Amino acid sequence: MSFAPKPMKFYGLHDIEKLPQLSKLSAGQRFDMKVVSHVLPFRTNSYVVEELIDWDNIPADPIFQLTFMQRGMLKPEHFDKVAAAVKSGDAAKIKAEADAVRMALNPHPAGQMTANVPVMDEEPVAGVQHKYRETCLVFPSSGQTCHAYCTFCFRWPQFVSLDSLKFATDKSMRFQAYLKRHKEVTDVLFTGGDPMVMGIRNLRAYIDPLLGPGFEHLQTIRIGTKSISYWPYRYLTDRDSADVLKLFERIVESGKHLAIMAHFNHWQEMQPAAAHAAIRAIRGTGAQIRTQSPLVKYINDDAGVWARMWTEQVRLGCIPYYMFIERQTGAKAYFAIPLARAYEIYRGAFVQVSGLARTARGPSMSALPGKVAIDGITTINGEKVFALRLIQARNPDWAQRPFFVKYDEKATWLYDLKPALGEKEFFFERELRAMLKKKEEALTAATQAASP
Ligand SMILES: *Cc1c(COP(=O)(O)O)cnc(C)c1O
Repeated sequence: MSFAPKPMKFYGLHDIEKLPQLSKLSAGQRFDMKVVSHVLPFRTNSYVVEELIDWDNIPADPIFQLTFMQRGMLKPEHFDKVAAAVKSGDAAKIKAEADAVRMALNPHPAGQMTANVPVMDEEPVAGVQHKYRETCLVFPSSGQTCHAYCTFCFRWPQFVSLDSLKFATDKSMRFQAYLKRHKEVTDVLFTGGDPMVMGIRNLRAYIDPLLGPGFEHLQTIRIGTKSISYWPYRYLTDRDSADVLKLFERIVESGKHLAIMAHFNHWQEMQPAAAHAAIRAIRGTGAQIRTQSPLVKYINDDAGVWARMWTEQVRLGCIPYYMFIERQTGAKAYFAIPLARAYEIYRGAFVQVSGLARTARGPSMSALPGKVAIDGITTINGEKVFALRLIQARNPDWAQRPFFVKYDEKATWLYDLKPALGEKEFFFERELRAMLKKKEEALTAATQAASP
């Protein structure tokens, strides 16, 4: 099947009154949407609006919830303050109120700005997070936006006007020197934002050097992207689509694995023919597509939705990889699902599908010590517990050791949980404290060296 070239139209805060589809909502609902969009980044596009959302099913439609802001995403007291500022029409006041609310939304959870940033030659390496030995995250400065923004995005500070909250590589590309030196790194994950918003020249500038000498230890180039869902034409009809696919082929020909870490939240994103064609085109280059998603209320908090999503992914040749618990940031209170329920949804989906669709691990929390999976709910010596396990850990030796915490029906994150079976703290905590202290000292020393 061939597709006619499509120009993309972005829609933001100032299009809320103009989009014909939104005339179905009341003026009050559109006002609410605008208030929230002053705080959390709102962007959608013509493909999402025209081909993914079922406008006969709003506001319940999962893709509507995925890209359009809802009043409940802000706490009532936050909402009221920003709403008053918006009514006043005073731009400076709106910005001040919005910024104050943003700072109250835990913009960088799990130590992302401190504990994960590596230091090289007494200087932090801009735009890099290195938490797990084998895998380094790189945030290309020109890839820090997306074709549309997810309402639940845990990296929302990347897209708002508070510069101090942003995270990206600098022009010197020191990340390359860092990777060259760190032979223990096998995987580089380009992430964002969405690296696939970059044009071919920027993509090559980031990726090409890693295919050359000095980087033989890198086995896998990963690209984290939502583009197959939000703009499949990236691989079909954009001006540089053919060049992007050629670059993918070149990565594979260089002897490295190319893993497209595709973000899908709902099977509805995988229905359009354009999405199927994009998946075929990417797989045709020799790349693999692995899929991941957080579990979020109003969007995919249903075992049947996950079972169908994983099954359709397998049919299209994609490999289900992770189910995440939504992080402690942004509109978390709106989307949160108790861990006990998350586990039941995961298990409920798992038992419905074939072995090939059971490759998604989870439900997993990306927390300070690592990725913590909920393996089960059980009773030991009369005490009801969650069985937990680190899938990934700051110290690789912490992984795959079962540990138990008191069952808590309401808990939504690791920090709500207490050790069970008479333990005082989790087995990794003393060592984690020492690691974080050391890390902080290195960063402080680097900051002092930088400002004599
Ligand atoms: C999930 C994650 C990775 C990748 O872990 P894998 O289990 O190898 O996919 C790397 N760094 C961070 C910070 C992560 O959260």
